[in-house]
This record gives sequence, structure tokens and C-alpha cells, in this order.
Amino acid sequence: MSKIVILTGAGISAESGIGTFRDENGLWAQHRIEDVATPEGFARDPDLVHAFYNARREQAAAALPNAAHIALAHLQARHRGEVVIVTQNVDGLHEKGGATKVWHMHGTVDGALCAACAHRWRAPLEMHRTTVCPSCQAAAARPDIVWFGEMPYDMEQIYTHLSEAELFAAIGTSSQVYPAAAFVHEALAAGAHTTELNLEPSAMVSAFAEARFGPASKLVPIWVDQVLSQR
Ligand SMILES: [Zn+2]
Repeated sequence: MSKIVILTGAGISAESGIGTFRDENGLWAQHRIEDVATPEGFARDPDLVHAFYNARREQAAAALPNAAHIALAHLQARHRGEVVIVTQNVDGLHEKGGATKVWHMHGTVDGALCAACAHRWRAPLEMHRTTVCPSCQAAAARPDIVWFGEMPYDMEQIYTHLSEAELFAAIGTSSQVYPAAAFVHEALAAGAHTTELNLEPSAMVSAFAEARFGPASKLVPIWVDQVLSQR
């Protein structure tokens, strides 16, 4: 059975109102990346970092999946082979849209991680520097988010999936952050057909066999229908 691997980035959630650090307005605009998205920033000012992710958690909890998330869940349900969704997003919208198995390479805003014992649990809506780990009781809770300078999650399994892909699609990702930017090369080495679906050409567009440009909520449902009719 043919395996489809899909990488999604911020562009798929933009129409659901989730901002990114590349936006000129919104949540990220008031902060520097090194202050709120690095382990050093967290060590310097945990109150600021918790407040930042508390706001992002609240935003994600209120956000609704759009037609692109729902179309990918439909593909996962209908395709006779495996459909592997790998996301750089931390918002949980794939699951809200009905996707069953999603690889969260950058963690999730719904997760808490103990910096003392590495225990993971579901984050409360608000975390603070006094939030206690339910396993070791240390006041060392941090967001279960992969920050700049940290190793993305599940890379071994993701590379294995890429090496078995017959079709690889990158959706709404600017392809400026490694290792995700290089996934297309892994898929090409496996002999996969490669497609980019993006608002505008990414930094990696020339590596893809095919590219389509426009909003994800328009492009993705059409692409999914085509994939399902061909395979
Ligand atoms: Zn702990």
C-alpha cells in the first residue's frame, strides 16, 4: 500500500487565526524569538515565557480547524495506504480537524514537560514558575515545545517514514527551518513524487516536482480529492 507523508507548517493554520513569529502583528510581534523560544530565554525569565505560552495556549484552544485540516483528516481516513502527518505546528488543529495520528516534531502547546525529570503531562490552561510536576513534585514545569537550539521530536521515526514515501507533500511551510526544510530531499531519495502547496514559493520550491500556490483552505481539499481519485 502506498505511503503518503505530509509536512505541515504555519501556513495551514494561518486561516484559523494562529499567528507565527514571521507575522508583523500579533502575539509574536511584541517579543524577540531569543526571549520566548529558547531554553536560555526561559532560564532568564520563566514568568515571561510562561505568560507567552499561556496566551498561545488560550489562542489555540479557541481556534477552529479550517478546510485544509479537515481535508487531510479525510485523506487519512480514506486512503488505503498509510497517511503520515508531520507538523511543525504546536496548535493541535490537525486533531481537532479529525486527524488520528500526527507527529508533533516541535511539541504541542497543550503539553507540559518537567525540566527536572522529563515527565510529560497535559498542560493546565495556565502554567507558572510555581507549577509542580505531578511525577517528581519539582516546580520545574515548562511548555512541551521544541525551542530554537533544541532537537525536534521523533526524527528517527519521521526519517523512516520519509524513506518509505511514495508521495511527499509540504503544506504551508516556508522551508527555512532545518531539519524539516530538508525532508523533500529525503523523500526524493526514496523516489517519492513531491508536491509543495503554499501561499507563495518557499525557499525549497525548486526541489519539488510540482508546486501549487494559494491559501491552504483552497488548495488542500482540491489536492486531496485528486490524490484519492488517483490512488
Ligand atoms: Zn518532574
